Amino acid sequence: MTAPGSAAIWTMPDFDEHERVEVIHDRASGLTAIVALHSTHRGPGAGGTRFWHYPQPLAAVRDALRLSRGMSYKNALAGLPLGGGKAVVLLDEQRTKTPEMLAAFGDAVEALGGAYVTAEDVGASVADMEAIHQRTEHVCGLPAQPGQAGGDPGPYTAQGIFLGIKAAVQYRLGGKDMDGVHVAVQGCGSVGSGVARLLAGEGARVTLADIDHARAEVLAAQLGGSCVSTGEIMEVGCDVFSPNALGAILDDATIPQLDCTIVAGGANNQLARAEHGEMLRERGILYAPDYVINAGGIINVGLEYLARRAGETCSSATVMERIGGIARTLTTIWEESERSGTGAHEVADRMAREAIGRGE
Ligand code: NAD
Repeated sequence: MTAPGSAAIWTMPDFDEHERVEVIHDRASGLTAIVALHSTHRGPGAGGTRFWHYPQPLAAVRDALRLSRGMSYKNALAGLPLGGGKAVVLLDEQRTKTPEMLAAFGDAVEALGGAYVTAEDVGASVADMEAIHQRTEHVCGLPAQPGQAGGDPGPYTAQGIFLGIKAAVQYRLGGKDMDGVHVAVQGCGSVGSGVARLLAGEGARVTLADIDHARAEVLAAQLGGSCVSTGEIMEVGCDVFSPNALGAILDDATIPQLDCTIVAGGANNQLARAEHGEMLRERGILYAPDYVINAGGIINVGLEYLARRAGETCSSATVMERIGGIARTLTTIWEESERSGTGAHEVADRMAREAIGRGE
């Protein structure tokens, strides 16, 4: 496949021996989508579908390449028998998403014969997954019965991050409980609000920021925390900075401003570039690699899918038990990082590549 108006996709910097990159165009519904399968070494390539408006179509290809590799790493270090894949659906400026497009996308996923399993991502809801499920079995994040795996991944993602933060506090600060630990939370959406609630529930002090300032204020009032502006949150003097909004927030400009000992949050792709992981290490800041700490959601929907395929069900108790493994994986990464003198992000990448059969 050749990228529109440029060189072949396999010459793009984000291409990493992806097994397949499919472009789907359905004239009748107006669907244009890209499905990237990075690795199916461990099982079907699982990862959500992003519905987004891309002013430059090439940015959609880049996103699919980058995000599908991230899913290979995430699923591998979560110990799931799943590979890495991701889809992007290119929406118009009005972000029009029609039932016909969802049906055509479901048909496209079905045509891949189970090599790709889709789920929610930015711009997609549980209802969208139900619509896609009308056309294919290879979808997860479907509505869940109480006590069963599945449904909105957000609360499970938050639970994994909460456990990861506790593990980091224990590892770096030596404390077992969260009483009085100060956490600055960037983003109070599905994940950030869940993390803040869990932390406050165990006595942590939370400082919150969101571009929707009213949202942060309401949550702070409920949790007895405080609020700062989005421009200030990364400079708050605290124990833990927890990014739960955007990616690429850790860069040359922001890392020197951090006044914390731990960075641990759910936002995807937090490091602007790989060397920013090393910059954190040099500053003595313990970093929880994003795709390790934010795997709770895929653990939930991945186990939902695997159980359904086996004609079984998976309980949320089993999901919670598996999410508990995130803290152990992070601790292994930090120990190895310290032992080898390399950044936690590098150690995690190395472990992930080994787990997908692409070690050195
Ligand atoms: P969400 O849309 O529910 O919440 C994001 C929040 O961030 C919103 O409240 C938004 O107003 C706020 N925000 C946006 N820009 C901001 C800024 N500059 N400063 C402060 N706040 C800002 O999204 P979510 O599901 O909570 O996901 C948050 C992050 O976690 C994303 O990076 C997402 O990719 C990642 N993630 C989510 C899941 C999941 O299960 N939902 C899983 C893995 C990773």
